Amino acid sequence: MKNRMKYCIANFKMNLGTQSSLTEYFNALKQNQFSKNEMIDVIVAPPFTVLNNAVSLSLDFNSNIKIAAQNVNENKSGAYTGEISIDMLKDAKVNYVIVGHSERRAYYNESNEQINDKNKTLLSNGFIPIFCIGETLEQRSENLIEETLREQLSIGLLNIREKNFIIAYEPVWAIGTGKTATSEMITESHRMIRNILNDIGFDGQKISILYGGSVNRNNAKELIALSDVDGFLIGGASLDAKHFLHIYNFMKENV
Ligand code: PEP
Repeated sequence: MKNRMKYCIANFKMNLGTQSSLTEYFNALKQNQFSKNEMIDVIVAPPFTVLNNAVSLSLDFNSNIKIAAQNVNENKSGAYTGEISIDMLKDAKVNYVIVGHSERRAYYNESNEQINDKNKTLLSNGFIPIFCIGETLEQRSENLIEETLREQLSIGLLNIREKNFIIAYEPVWAIGTGKTATSEMITESHRMIRNILNDIGFDGQKISILYGGSVNRNNAKELIALSDVDGFLIGGASLDAKHFLHIYNFMKENV
């Protein structure tokens, strides 16, 4: 189905978080042709400290580049040292937020229930969650892919009726490892996700599902040709603006 919105998303993680590195990155992006009416949204998710600057740079640029935060706290305000609230992200004029990234699940013990609270907070405040799900290598080898995805989706989206979210399927074993899932694995998982979405009250055909996990300029062309893949969430390869643009341009040719 070609009329789902496509996304090319750069997740900087804890990189490129100085004003100078961010400005340099946006200057490199400026070399490319972006048009406003495309079916592809380009989204950059820098660290919190440069979010304001990233929003200003994206506006100066007059392109369709949007800015995402990499996380949000599920509470409105209070004694949560080191955390960032929804009102702070509103003030920074961010539109998207990454939720449930496997690094947050693994290193900060984020649970499916907490991720559900984050999704609810975001959707009720008009943000678009980029909701990450995916199985570990152990779960894959024990044939627990469907069970894992079903649990992540059904708890993560519990009591949510809004449809304005993006799913990023990111098999944990493929993130930052240089091991990309095969086209067959990705197609199988994306179809599974669409079916699970149907089972829990959404229209799986209408929701954009991205792939993430060691996407780079060598494999992006093959992966974007898969009809169930609506774009990418890119970590390592997005840190070099030229690589990121290469991947975006493959997408542009395919939409
Ligand atoms: C990610 O962190 O979401 C990711 C997909 O990273 P990488 O592209 O480096 O595997």
